[in-house]
Amino acid sequence: MSAQIIDGRAFAATVRGKVAGHVARLKEEHDITPGLAVVLVGEDPASQVYVRSKGEQTVEVGMNSYEHKLPADVSKDELYALIDKLNNDPAVHGILVQFPVPDHLSETDIVARIDPSKDVDGLHVVNAGLLASGQRAMVSCTPLGCLMLLRDQLGSLSGLNAVVVGRSNLVGKPMAQLLLGDSCTVTIAHSRTKDLPDVVKRADIVIAAVGRPEMVPGDWIKEGATVIDVGINRIAAPEKGEGKTRLVGDVHFESAAAVAGAITPVPGGVGPMTIACLLANTVTACCRANGLAEPEGLTA
Ligand code: NDP
Repeated sequence: MSAQIIDGRAFAATVRGKVAGHVARLKEEHDITPGLAVVLVGEDPASQVYVRSKGEQTVEVGMNSYEHKLPADVSKDELYALIDKLNNDPAVHGILVQFPVPDHLSETDIVARIDPSKDVDGLHVVNAGLLASGQRAMVSCTPLGCLMLLRDQLGSLSGLNAVVVGRSNLVGKPMAQLLLGDSCTVTIAHSRTKDLPDVVKRADIVIAAVGRPEMVPGDWIKEGATVIDVGINRIAAPEKGEGKTRLVGDVHFESAAAVAGAITPVPGGVGPMTIACLLANTVTACCRANGLAEPEGLTA
């Protein structure tokens, strides 16, 4: 194996440390405590784990965590009333509604209801538009985390060829905008892309955000490229015993690591950065809401 392994867990701990430092300064100098409200609708077990983890990490960095649990059959109007209340609450600087939500609710309409300045998930069309036009936005947490890892690994990204595989609103599109903002030459690939292996082979930076286990093999990767694997896929692992599973990314790690210059593992790469960036976005939103200088190194 030749590639350097990018340690997302360690970097996420550094980000949380920076967030905690800013939170402490906000308290000391301005008597302000950033607050993050997380709304969970229903009892999806995975979502419950994420929400608990977000709440714990929010408190660990010194911020206030407000958890709102609503029943799976909550009406649209009741949910919107809660969002409106949070939009108007000065103690709440970030609002996140945990997805997926039950089928009778629309994720697009929920995001549209959130005040864009409190949209710490960066999903509101206003934030997507601000990002696309190169203006100050709230940026989706996972792509922001990928950008931080890339800057840390490579320094300047200017002029590099970046290929983003995946064009979702959550990951692929904002990732491409961020890379463009850092002056990369950006290609966005997707399920209809022709000659995908050749497209990926041209990349100095490969971002895989597809949701297909180990789809990108090492022989698609240019020697020395930096590979950021966003994918989280659970697959059967009979070698660990009957019925056991393991997590893999969208990149075939072993073969890619043999040619890449640097690569994120799964787990332990991009995953830990996502919650760290949610905390970073909340402290950023708090500073903006109070007209204070933004924390350095925690924004795009
Ligand atoms: P989506 O399903 O919304 O998007 C997947 C994208 O991949 C689509 O644009 C799709 O193209 C493209 N795609 C699918 N199949 C192919 C193919 N064969 N060749 C090329 N492109 C293809 O997924 P997300 O963006 O939400 O997530 C992507 C992955 O990242 C998932 O594994 C998810 O679990 C993970 N993830 C991880 C996070 C983290 O914290 N680490 C956070 C968010 C997501 P098309 O548009 O043409 O259909």
